[in-house]
Amino acid sequence: MFTMKKIFTTLSLSTLVFLSSMAQNSTSSETPIRKCGSPKVNATYEEAFQNMLQKDEQFANGKKATVVYNIPVIFHVLHSGVAVNANSATTGRNLSQAQINSQLAILNADYRKLNTDFSTYVTQSAFTSVAADVEINFCAAKVSPTGTVLAEPGIERISVSSKGWTALPYSMSYIESTVKPGSSWDPTKYYNVWILEFGGADVGTLGYAQFPTIPSGTSPVTDMVGAGGAANTDGVVIDYQYIGNTGTALASAPYNKGRTLTHETGHWLGLWHIWGDDGTSCSGTDYVTDTPNQADENYTCPTTNGAVSADACAGSTGAMYQNYMDYSDDKCMVMFTAGQKARMQAVMANCLRRKTLTTSTVCSTTGLDESNSDITFDVFPNPSKGEFFVNVDLLNQQDYTITVINTLGQTVKEIKQVQSNGGSVKVDLSDKAEGVYFVTLKSKTVSKTKRIILQ
Ligand SMILES: [Zn+2]
Repeated sequence: MFTMKKIFTTLSLSTLVFLSSMAQNSTSSETPIRKCGSPKVNATYEEAFQNMLQKDEQFANGKKATVVYNIPVIFHVLHSGVAVNANSATTGRNLSQAQINSQLAILNADYRKLNTDFSTYVTQSAFTSVAADVEINFCAAKVSPTGTVLAEPGIERISVSSKGWTALPYSMSYIESTVKPGSSWDPTKYYNVWILEFGGADVGTLGYAQFPTIPSGTSPVTDMVGAGGAANTDGVVIDYQYIGNTGTALASAPYNKGRTLTHETGHWLGLWHIWGDDGTSCSGTDYVTDTPNQADENYTCPTTNGAVSADACAGSTGAMYQNYMDYSDDKCMVMFTAGQKARMQAVMANCLRRKTLTTSTVCSTTGLDESNSDITFDVFPNPSKGEFFVNVDLLNQQDYTITVINTLGQTVKEIKQVQSNGGSVKVDLSDKAEGVYFVTLKSKTVSKTKRIILQ
């Protein structure tokens, strides 16, 4: 009886969603509803995840230092042999570099709680008090797995015919069996993001993610049960219409602010949907204590500017429809919580193919080379509030250049020194955005890079 009732409830809800989507269609020809293809809450996997969390906390012994992680990203842009989109184009699968860059900037803003729309949509103190800076940065990969410097940082363009693949669009099963294994870059060094058009059985899907692999020895499983966990399928897939906030995204309201990748990256870092994937019931959970118990997913922006949204389970705080792990419109999806951050930080510290990303040097053309030579340098203070010093030690008088590069691979500062004896060079980045930068010191014989954090 219970099962039948539940099916009926689910069907009714689907019908309602369908009807509401039809109603919206009368004013707008195409208003999709958010559809995420990521695995749903899985108790067996979660048991292993909880064991990992417990070990992580025991190891840290309550004295865990704040860690800002840096994740190199490669966007595989799939197209059918066409030219790169003009910046002004709102159609075409071969997205412009400007559109990819807008997505990377959004990802960095969202994971550092630097998104300026937060205060517009989160006004309840119950939610502002738990909103978190996740302390994860993303940088555009600058070199390929074979060491080639990429023409466009963070971007690999793939004409699908060159791979012998069928014509776009693709179903998830084709992506899993053929596309990902045929184009994945070493997932211990790169966060693989595929951008393509979903079709077939998965038409209308905005994106999906592979969950992290839990270290072996953590019982009872290591991978998502029944939903894969192989190295050559690790990463996230996003439909080309929902990347960033420019180009094709301009025609994709209400999913036009780059939050699909923020959401899917949350899954890739071990987060479940905020309502616990339990239909309309109050029994499900996302295993995060500071998100309200929520009955169901939210669509649109259920209230204006952050007011309490009624929910069958959440009580007086209302549903946290502002959370990136809900199904709300991009414009009001604006926060992670401290509990969600704890899960993601634990994944970065422990999980296979996640913890190695933090030492990957692919966002620099020179690598973070610390080997001995006649020239060494240090950056101080780090983190910095804007001004910092590059202290250079030289054995012989020589020429060198200090270059500062942002996570998009753009040079933001260059200082040349001629016949220098070394010493301190002041660098001022106080007009630049907060985040990770790479400082490269280059002489005739040596090129070395260090990371600096601006905050
Ligand atoms: Zn999802």
